[in-house]
Amino acid sequence: MTKVAVVQAYSYDQQTVEQAMKELLDHLGGMSKYIQPGDRVLVKPNMLEGVDKGLSVTTHPEVVRAVLRLIKQAGGIPVVGDSPGLGNTVKVAEKCGILQVCREEAVELVPFEQPVEVALPEGRVLKKLILAKVIGEVDKVISLAKMKTHSFMGVTGAVKNLFGCFVGTDKAQFHLRMKRRADFACMLVDLYGAVKPVLSIVDGITGMEGAGPRNGKPIQTNMLLGGSCGFSVDLVMADRMGFKAEQMPVAQAALAAGLSPTLAGIDVVGSGKELTYRFQEPRNFESLEGRMPGWLVDFSQNQFTAKPRIEPQCIACGRCAEHCPPHAIQIVEGRAVIDYHTCIRCYCCQELCPVNAVSLVDGMLLKVAKRLRKAK
Ligand code: SF4
Ligand code: SF4
Repeated sequence: MTKVAVVQAYSYDQQTVEQAMKELLDHLGGMSKYIQPGDRVLVKPNMLEGVDKGLSVTTHPEVVRAVLRLIKQAGGIPVVGDSPGLGNTVKVAEKCGILQVCREEAVELVPFEQPVEVALPEGRVLKKLILAKVIGEVDKVISLAKMKTHSFMGVTGAVKNLFGCFVGTDKAQFHLRMKRRADFACMLVDLYGAVKPVLSIVDGITGMEGAGPRNGKPIQTNMLLGGSCGFSVDLVMADRMGFKAEQMPVAQAALAAGLSPTLAGIDVVGSGKELTYRFQEPRNFESLEGRMPGWLVDFSQNQFTAKPRIEPQCIACGRCAEHCPPHAIQIVEGRAVIDYHTCIRCYCCQELCPVNAVSLVDGMLLKVAKRLRKAK
């Protein structure tokens, strides 16, 4: 039976996190079960953007420190790396506190800048990937994610965290190629198979609810989660967030591929195994995709999914226009304007807006369907 450990941790105090991380690993057989002396180990935190650690957007630096220390105790040589959604890796790491921890622990920070092609013959939607070169140069990878809601994928945890293994703007092409959630989720399952992390750990001491992964609200959730199977860790995480875990797109894709156990097939252990919360859902959580034939969703996607709307607080910074995969946004007279015919409903604009000026509103048919469902 796959094991997932959930342990309690009520603050980011250094000693508290270190003790909790040790307890987590003890439940999983100890770090030396996964890391052998001399192993070069890439730790991949969530560094979506350079914002204060208190906003709960990025993996907390004390959680990074605790993992780095355990790797060293096992004889491994850790490095930390990511390709943030926005901005330069070093600057992002500096703002979210991870650079300071790397310096204090004498650990190299590796920006994911050099790409390398990786063949994936067993991939379901990807037969080859262009990943950060360092992934092929280390012996082991540990995914060190943050517990958050996600507008497009429902939740983001250990598996979605690996999306940062694509270099820079390569990420945007996946939104263009895989517009449906189910396809995007299959791509993430393939990515997980290519990166093969030996451990997946989630910082859920403070999570994010609502408009995640960037503009939601921090929620105190007091737990660290971990295990050797990232799909299982994410299933338990989504369940503890109060969601129907097996209905999350990545969980569905992994279950369909036979790569994940069901929730009932996971042995959950640890001092935090009874902790559960009710996270506020991301706004477009109720897409009708998956409940209708795919051709119908494609044909009338704009009505069946929530659409992004620019709110008055837009400061015309241009960030959304720069990163919108199909270039559907222009800055006109001091405000972002969306061309809804071109928009593919990927929600990158909502994810990246620095002032939370992108809200999501239901399309016409989605509204009708929801009303009909409520009336039943
Ligand atoms: S919507 Fe947000 S990201 Fe886009 S221009 Fe306005 S403030 Fe910037
Ligand atoms: S406008 Fe927003 S949701 Fe639409 S394609 Fe651009 S980034 Fe994606």
